[in-house]
Amino acid sequence: MTDDCIFCKVAAGELPSEIIQEDEHTLAFMDINPWTRGHALVIPRAHSRNLYEVDDADLAHASAAAKRLAVTMRDRLGCAGVNLLNCCEPAAWQTVFHTHIHVIPRYDDDPLRLPVGPRPAASDELARVAADLRGN
Ligand code: 5GP
Ligand code: ZN
Repeated sequence: MTDDCIFCKVAAGELPSEIIQEDEHTLAFMDINPWTRGHALVIPRAHSRNLYEVDDADLAHASAAAKRLAVTMRDRLGCAGVNLLNCCEPAAWQTVFHTHIHVIPRYDDDPLRLPVGPRPAASDELARVAADLRGN
C-alpha cells in the first residue's frame, strides 16, 4: 500500500469503486470515465508504478484476470470485441501510477477510432530499429 496512490486505496476499500472481479492477487473495477459501456480496469493488488516495475507474477495474474473479464464482457454485455490497453509513463498516456490494464468492450457502433495513423515503413528503417532493439 502506497499512501498517495488512489488504486491502492481502491484495493484497500478506502475509496469507493464498483468492483467486478477479485482474487488474491488482482482486482477489477469500473473506470469512472469509461470510453465505452463496461470499460474496466484490472490491477495487481500489490503496488507498482507501471509496466517497467511490475513483478512478473503480478503481471501474469493481471493478464489472466483481464482475459477472464474480456470473456465476461462478451458473455454478459454482448460486446463485439475487446481492447486491452496499458499505459506506461505520461508519454504513453499514464495518469494513475499504479499498474493497470484497461479492458475496454467494443461495440460495432461505438465512437472509438484509432488515435494513430499507421504507415508502412521502409525495410531499412525496420532493419535499423530491429538492430537497436537487439542491441547490435
Ligand atoms: P491511465 O491514463 O493511467 O492509463 O488510466 C487511468 C484511468 O483511471 C483513467 O481511465 C481514469 O478514468 C481512471 N480513474 C482515475 N481515477 C479513478 C478513480 O478514482 N476511480 C476509478 N474507478 N477510476 C479512476
Ligand atoms: Zn498503488
